[in-house]
Amino acid sequence: MTAVTRPCYNTPMTAEIVAIGTELLLGHVVNTNAAFLSQKLAEAGIDVFHHTTVGDNPGRLTEAIRKALGRSDVVITSGGLGPTVDDITIETIAKLTGRELILDRAVLKDLNGYFKLRRIKAPRDSIRQAYIPEGAKRIRNRVGTAPGLIVEVRGKVIIALPGPPREIEPMVEHEILPYLLKHYALNPIPYTLRSRTIKLTGLAESQVNAKAKDLLSLKPPTTVGIYAKLGEVDLKIMAKADSDREAARVIGRIEGKIHSRLRGNIFGYDEDTLEGAVANALKRKKLTIATAESCTGGFVSHRITNVSGSSGYFMMGIIAYSNESKVNMLGVSPFTLKKYGAVSREVALEMAEGVRRLAGTDIGLSLTGIAGPTGGTKSKPIGLVYIALAMDDCKKLKAESRKLKALVKEFRFKGTREEIKFQASQAALELVRRNV
Ligand code: ATP
Ligand code: MG
Repeated sequence: MTAVTRPCYNTPMTAEIVAIGTELLLGHVVNTNAAFLSQKLAEAGIDVFHHTTVGDNPGRLTEAIRKALGRSDVVITSGGLGPTVDDITIETIAKLTGRELILDRAVLKDLNGYFKLRRIKAPRDSIRQAYIPEGAKRIRNRVGTAPGLIVEVRGKVIIALPGPPREIEPMVEHEILPYLLKHYALNPIPYTLRSRTIKLTGLAESQVNAKAKDLLSLKPPTTVGIYAKLGEVDLKIMAKADSDREAARVIGRIEGKIHSRLRGNIFGYDEDTLEGAVANALKRKKLTIATAESCTGGFVSHRITNVSGSSGYFMMGIIAYSNESKVNMLGVSPFTLKKYGAVSREVALEMAEGVRRLAGTDIGLSLTGIAGPTGGTKSKPIGLVYIALAMDDCKKLKAESRKLKALVKEFRFKGTREEIKFQASQAALELVRRNV
């Protein structure tokens, strides 16, 4: 079982993240720093109960930090450490904690070194970054110019980090986490938290919910969460126990229940992907595949070839977008096209059979549909997709699939053009996984 083990401490500690920047509030920049920091803190066993985002405004920033300090042990800010006029984090923290800003010679030396190395004259404003609140510890920034800061205030800590994600990542890994564990003298106590994610496809969140209602209402130390994604639903089991073995045993028991109820729709666990599951199924059976795609424009082939070693089973992918290409390359009959239209069961079947024949593979997979946002009609709405598998005469296939020789399924997806394409690729891969 692959699982995440997280330490727990005798003194529970809480951290809170304050992301600073008007660009975050306007939605111009996505707050990935909060997600990154939360993940790292969770892995280290530190609880995060609040995230705040605030613009470059001294009053509101002061209020946000003060509030965070009132309810959490550690407040981590990101952004606003640079030399520009809207970078107000340091001044605000200095005022809030009643400290003077003093010139730090080491920071100045680093700054001068940074510009010298790049043969740039240091801009006048850059010296602002060398002023840090009295008594603050500085965290070296090996990627950019703004150093991070640790300001200890009455048993609590404010940690100020720069905005750019590539600058904070090494700082958190190498300096912040070791500092927190040491400063709070956090000693791991002998119980662990383990988690296991079970990945399902082909069911809506409400269908999974109906099958796992009792498990989803479990209370700590063992919980099950449900996460709906596009074309996928995940169930995440978390178990806290005295020992790793006990946590694994509890997870195993719940996993067994989920398995018995939803077996057919489980395609993987933890870091597994659907294309990876398809790869394993094809390799196990020594089957080869070729694709003929219309509405997905090669996206299914792209996902299949995202798996290293796919050349062993993926022989050919054709994007047959126009009617002519469906006829000329795949041998779809003009009569079928005319009678049923390009988006039809009949054309999907002929495309799958055509590419299978052309590539000489065991399986031919095809997709034809309407991705929108234009081109839908009453009888053929946007999101209508036909996916077919041709598996004629293949002795290595499951008996049920072999009997069928070919199959086609109709789907009606909702969403934007890209979302429809993704859901179609997910359904196509799932169709392969289930039938080989
Ligand atoms: P710099 O010295 O680069 O100005 P800074 O500490 O002043 O660093 P900001 O000016 O607040 O940081 O942000 C710089 C850039 O970092 C932003 O334009 C944005 O691209 C990115 N950034 C800032 N905050 C976040 C965040 N919370 N999540 C992801 N990216 C962010
Ligand atoms: Mg800045």
